[in-house]
Amino acid sequence: MSTIVQPIAVALPKARRSLQSSVVWGPRTVTVGGDAPVRVQSMTNTDTEDAIGTAIQVKELAIAGSELVRITVNTPEAAQAVPYIREQLDKMGIDVPLIGDFHYNGHRLLTDVPACAEALSKYRINPGNVGKGDKRDKQFGQMIDAAMKWNKPVRIGVNWGSLDQELLASLMDTNSQRVEPWDAKQVMYEALITSAIESAKRAEQMGMRGEQIMLSCKVSGVQDLISVYRELAKRCDYALHLGLTEAGMGTKGTVASTAALAVLLQEGIGDTIRVSLTPAPGESRTQEVVIASEILQSLGLRIFVPSVTACPGCGRTTSDTFQHLAKQIDDFLRMQMPVWRKKYPGVENLKVAVMGCIVNGPGESKHADIGISLPGTGEAPAAPVFIDGEKALTLRGENIATEFQSLVENYIEKRFGQTEAANA
Ligand code: SF4
Repeated sequence: MSTIVQPIAVALPKARRSLQSSVVWGPRTVTVGGDAPVRVQSMTNTDTEDAIGTAIQVKELAIAGSELVRITVNTPEAAQAVPYIREQLDKMGIDVPLIGDFHYNGHRLLTDVPACAEALSKYRINPGNVGKGDKRDKQFGQMIDAAMKWNKPVRIGVNWGSLDQELLASLMDTNSQRVEPWDAKQVMYEALITSAIESAKRAEQMGMRGEQIMLSCKVSGVQDLISVYRELAKRCDYALHLGLTEAGMGTKGTVASTAALAVLLQEGIGDTIRVSLTPAPGESRTQEVVIASEILQSLGLRIFVPSVTACPGCGRTTSDTFQHLAKQIDDFLRMQMPVWRKKYPGVENLKVAVMGCIVNGPGESKHADIGISLPGTGEAPAAPVFIDGEKALTLRGENIATEFQSLVENYIEKRFGQTEAANA
């Protein structure tokens, strides 16, 4: 009896329909939620009172691909610096929207420094840090009033490190009266979600539209984040900002963020993302943007930069030539992207392969738009180059890296430069 083999389903991210908002600065509108692409967000770590230093870092983050940049607004001096930061960015032609991150005194800063309220494109409000007791609702209300006055969207961002303690205590009390009390972790999940959704409902009661509100419930454990966001996504249709808070440094922070975000994004959960990486001393803040973009690109949700496929190397290649070449090409493509994005529309779809030997080199190179298969140990010192799936030429000698880089540039000019000419 013959068995009918069914085609294997292609994995595709699910779609969660969320409300769509617009984060606006001048002529620039960044749509968030709904059917808008998942957006990359980042946050500065400069002292906002240092307006020039902050403007420079915002510029770096924007050039690296951050579509929204959040800055701390923690003192009257920082609030006064915000319009100046905005002005500096506008002068540099950087129209990325700025989000103000407020804790404790946001109600005062947004009221006392109207130029700050106006220069920001969105406010982040942490309901755990807006005030205690009867001050909480009043001060939260003042921030919502400011958002409505200046027509700015808000993110109600709950964080388990600054969770509303009164709400948590009340949920703990309710839990203790259950016949079968929940695990303390489950109560904490409930408190995070309740805090976010109840605050959003309060903002709507005050007159904000649902599409002007985003939510986030950040925790630092991967499984906790997945659990909380799955439930949050079920209970509301607000757009969601996603991120593993305090992800950590280097490999740990990168892997933990990727693990958590990939699961949720594949389920259609998340409208903006941030990778909260602790930079190593001297490391550029832009690394968190590179990782966030890579997560989206790896999942096939966005395309930001040309992809470079490189093999890991093995015992068949005893030189590190291909490692250097892969890095050189990758760095070169990323560095050129701010210019190429405008000059060569569609260049981000380019696929380059840099392979270490004959085993998978020619095959992988043929799958790329342009690829090179370097000679492995014992192979003839020749590097065939494949263009659009066909062997085009063979490079030899000392200057293979430079020559291959020129071939990539020529390919880009020929393929993507024509679009520009046609549009001219
Ligand atoms: S392509 Fe060659 S060098 Fe690269 S991993 Fe495969 S066998 Fe090793």
